[in-house]
Amino acid sequence: MKVPLLDLKPQYKSLKKELDETLIRVAESQYFILGPEVDKMEKSFCNYLGSKYALGISSGTDALLIALMAIDIKPGDEVIVPTFSFFATAGVVSRLNAIPVLVDSDPVTFNIDPVEVEKKITSRTKAIIPVHLFGQSCYMDQIMVIARKNNIKVIEDAAQAIGVQYKDGRYVGTIGDIGCFSFFPSKNLGCFGDGGLVTTNDPHLGERLRILRVHGGEPKYYHKVIGGNFRLDALQAAILSVKLPHLDSWSEKRRKNAETYTKLFITKGLAAEEGKTKFDNKNKVLLPKAVYKDKVDSVRNYHIYNQFIIRVEKRDELRKYLAEKEIGTEIYYPVPFHMQECFAYLGNKPGDFPFAEQAANTSIALPIYPELSIEQLTFVVDTITEFIKNN
Ligand SMILES: *Cc1c(COP(=O)(O)O)cnc(C)c1O
Repeated sequence: MKVPLLDLKPQYKSLKKELDETLIRVAESQYFILGPEVDKMEKSFCNYLGSKYALGISSGTDALLIALMAIDIKPGDEVIVPTFSFFATAGVVSRLNAIPVLVDSDPVTFNIDPVEVEKKITSRTKAIIPVHLFGQSCYMDQIMVIARKNNIKVIEDAAQAIGVQYKDGRYVGTIGDIGCFSFFPSKNLGCFGDGGLVTTNDPHLGERLRILRVHGGEPKYYHKVIGGNFRLDALQAAILSVKLPHLDSWSEKRRKNAETYTKLFITKGLAAEEGKTKFDNKNKVLLPKAVYKDKVDSVRNYHIYNQFIIRVEKRDELRKYLAEKEIGTEIYYPVPFHMQECFAYLGNKPGDFPFAEQAANTSIALPIYPELSIEQLTFVVDTITEFIKNN
């Protein structure tokens, strides 16, 4: 049985008529950049997220970059980021000649550890970028308290977390000063290419973002500030307008798949419970945990499982074994920032961030997309069980 890590075709099939009509409508309009499709899509995201401002941006990476430009990050400024994330989180900081100050993450959520954040604050710290990794909120209460106390801005990297709710029901990306989202096709809400979004509740930042998106021109060709081309295509916006109403049902299916995986791993005796952080005889597989789930109700999007990440000791051998059985997996992420060649200049060394290194060596992403069948999920767990019993 083939189980790809991700298959986008069933989702396309389910909306094919509407999407194809949309593609043709945009083609016939010959209106390609920003314009009415983008305006409409932005309004829908304001409503969905409960955010005052939402602006379509060329990609998730550009959303992070324009956010840092909007809060006026300058060369030499320090920006606190997790060492365990997708490259863009730290890359955008360096591109502005600011300094990414790396912090380890918490072993239950894989998200930035607020205690470690506080230790890294200096007089040069200008911002924190909490990343809602794999589809679960960071500890935002603690992060916001630290930020406000020290007069530091918070840019949420919600690229993997569109539609995720924090414990109080607020959507991530609307809690800090600016929220950044990605519509890369493998995210829970993907467009037909690159796309992104920034959100804010601050009118001053909303206006700055709007101007920076078009090279800083306001009015056109008159530049008080230097921006860039951070515009979203009309085509991507139109596709997102079709897909957004389905996002919650897709996330719910991912949650159901996660629940099924969890039950199967526990039944097979590979794990005792979710959210364990140490390997032992009862926990050969460490399972993810939605930490806020049991506090209010289980229906909300506390975890949308953009990725379902388990940890196993013989990760690389397991990955090879699964590949032989035609089960797709991926390693998110094999190298934390402090071990990346391009960040050697930051002066960190191996051993500085023990959890990030353990995660990089033991994490493996299993197929979790909404349309997977129970047979496929069972096959994945059976195959992992087979490997662990024999190794
Ligand atoms: C995908 C992703 C990004 C970048 O988004 P793109 O649209 O691919 O540029 C940034 N941060 C995180 C955590 C991501 O997963």
